[in-house]
Amino acid sequence: MSKRKRLCPQCKIHRFRVLNERGESVVVTVTEAYEVVPVHEGTSLEGYDLEVLYCLGCSWKGSPRSLPL
Ligand SMILES: [Zn+2]
Repeated sequence: MSKRKRLCPQCKIHRFRVLNERGESVVVTVTEAYEVVPVHEGTSLEGYDLEVLYCLGCSWKGSPRSLPL
């Protein structure tokens, strides 16, 4: 199984935040297969909106599906 991560189309880093309804955030990466994975193992993504990613390095925001490798 590949461990390649998808990159921000603007600044090319591979860490993003996802938010829940309370405005809390979790840092994630996105796999080649578009799977959203928490950086810290064991962190629950329940209740988080995994369709909107916020780049940690720049102002980019968007869907996991729009990320290049
Ligand atoms: Zn970025």
